Amino acid sequence: MDFNYDLLILGGGPAGLSAGVYSSRARLKTLIIEKQTPGGQVLITEKVENYPGYVSIAGYELVDKMVEQVRNFQCEIKMGEVKEIFSLEKGFKVKTADGEISAKSIVIATGRQPRRLNIDGEIRLIGRGVSYCATCDGAFFRDKKVVVVGGGDSAVEEAIFLTKYASEVTIIHRRDQLRAAKYLQERAFNNEKIKFLYSHVPLKIVGENFVEKILLKNLKTDEEYLFDVDGVFIFIGSIPNTSFLSNFLKLSENGGIITDEKMETSVKGIFAAGDVREKFLYQIATAVGEGAVAAVAAEKYIENNF
Ligand code: NAP
Repeated sequence: MDFNYDLLILGGGPAGLSAGVYSSRARLKTLIIEKQTPGGQVLITEKVENYPGYVSIAGYELVDKMVEQVRNFQCEIKMGEVKEIFSLEKGFKVKTADGEISAKSIVIATGRQPRRLNIDGEIRLIGRGVSYCATCDGAFFRDKKVVVVGGGDSAVEEAIFLTKYASEVTIIHRRDQLRAAKYLQERAFNNEKIKFLYSHVPLKIVGENFVEKILLKNLKTDEEYLFDVDGVFIFIGSIPNTSFLSNFLKLSENGGIITDEKMETSVKGIFAAGDVREKFLYQIATAVGEGAVAAVAAEKYIENNF
């Protein structure tokens, strides 16, 4: 059978782009399918300071360099969304809105999406004061009061970014200790515009056409009260983009793809890399390493099976 491609990479974030560099250099006919613009979460990261080789680089600049590099090796990048994967007698076929594409092997690098709080008002007020992206929406909150929900790296990093615009940024965290890296915590503690509400959870976001208040609960006292606010930024982690896989391959209870050390999934010939995997560390540095491993493992799989 003639295949459209040797290797199909689903997702054009750092893991997918790195896999593209390695497979194209190995002269595999490679296509990266990306739902939006290549870059994934890095594209909406203001500044990257922990990717070796760059003391500090804007997220979009790092993505530009990765895309330029992958294109240098004649790797194709196409916009599209994969709805389903099918196993053929040998190789695979994926279904997209534009038709079907066959390939000898697949690397899944579809990343993650923001977790929702699932509270009243959240979905209705998205784009009307509720946001999951400070770099996209921060500028709309010049001299306004915003809250950031969460206590991890994203929440603290984005809270610091929001102080460029907002007059006051309150971090609302459910525990009495942040989870974020210590250097981020120090920066936040030293920023006069950032306030902290520990042991608090949001119960409801209130507003007619735009966010006006947030109903909070103090977990230590059980007191519930309304807090005046113009914007609610939510960074409470993320969930893997694996719903299109249904029962096709083995997922963790959190929905992340389980792989072995060669990034191979429970289906031979299908590999996974980056944030979509169930793993210990979610970083650009780990994503690109996994992309490289997945591409080289896919190359060996193709050599041995076709
Ligand atoms: P995260 O580390 O999973 O943190 C999520 C935060 O949200 C935690 O503080 C958690 O509270 C809180 N949370 C979760 N569910 C909640 C709920 N229903 N209600 C209220 N609060 C809730 O997620 P993240 O900050 O997005 O980071 C994800 C990964 O990316 C991490 O591995 C992180 O290191 C990495 N990352 C790195 C950088 C960087 O290196 N500069 C930047 C961004 C992200 P608890 O603490 O109580 O669990």
